[in-house]
Amino acid sequence: MIIIMHPQVTDAEINGVKDKLKSLGLESNISRGVERTIIGAIGDERKIHKESLQALAGVEDVIRVVKPYKIVAREWHKADTVINIKGIPVGGKTIQIIGGPCSVETQAQMDLAAQGVEQAGCRLIRGGAFKPRTSPYSFQGKGVEGLKIFRQAADKYNLPIVTELMDVRHLDAFLEHGVDVIQIGTRNMQNFDLLKEVGKIHTPVILKRGLCATLSEWLMSAEYIAAGGNHNIILCERGVRSFEKAYRNMLDVTAIPVLKKETHLPVIVDPSHAGGKAWLVPTLSKAAIAAGADGLLVEMHPQPCDAWCDADQALTPDELKDLVGDLRGIAQAVGRII
Ligand code: PEP
Ligand code: MN
Repeated sequence: MIIIMHPQVTDAEINGVKDKLKSLGLESNISRGVERTIIGAIGDERKIHKESLQALAGVEDVIRVVKPYKIVAREWHKADTVINIKGIPVGGKTIQIIGGPCSVETQAQMDLAAQGVEQAGCRLIRGGAFKPRTSPYSFQGKGVEGLKIFRQAADKYNLPIVTELMDVRHLDAFLEHGVDVIQIGTRNMQNFDLLKEVGKIHTPVILKRGLCATLSEWLMSAEYIAAGGNHNIILCERGVRSFEKAYRNMLDVTAIPVLKKETHLPVIVDPSHAGGKAWLVPTLSKAAIAAGADGLLVEMHPQPCDAWCDADQALTPDELKDLVGDLRGIAQAVGRII
């Protein structure tokens, strides 16, 4: 940490900062310039609150030198993390496309969805049994009954399942039904108690980006999960809130290469919740793969018009199949395979 002192700083104020740093277990290195005195704090600064130094007399600014996250940082783990989901790698050379409906509705719907996912060449299936809806009057998901339906449909095609956990009270049911990947949705990216709980298990977690979260805040949420011992984390960019009303959210393509530089964790993209329209999904998917994404989370419904949730953005099974085919060429161009 670097502490920049006011231009008219006194020796007493400098000593005050030195004493404070000492009490926090850090050494100080004082550098007196022509205009300013700066104090370098030597030691592990991660446990120190910037504010506790900023409030001291004579301090103008405090600048962190190291990143606040550690386990998820590329700095500490150079190689890409590859997560193994029942033998399916996420984060390596192979790009994984996770397809499936927004929500689990009926057994017949999920059976058709699983068939469509398999026929499209996808290796994992998504579907929400617990849905975070803006209105309390909208369909809230089938709950535990939905997990059973989902499991049954996916097992016919040997597809690992991805489903959203909204409440720690449902975690036991998720483990009982053998959920293969737990999704933490946008609205819960900073639900720290939930993050701590999924940090205690080893089930892979897809951590979606909060509606207006910075990359640093998002990585700190990932760090919460990792700090508990679960390092099987996949980040999912799904668009951020913007001023534009022509589409649902703004897909932050720039976040992909920046995250790949900052972290060793796999980064996937959800083009469906970003665009909010089925016709936008192919273009956003191509942009994501070209920018280096390790996979996609795409909404597909056997009959999009009849979907109980997010009907506008769901692809048909045939459209998903065509998309996977089209993406193969882009993947090859960037040295990946699908
Ligand atoms: C979802 O994937 O079903 C979902 C609700 O996404 P998000 O959390 O990105 O809104
Ligand atoms: Mn949805």
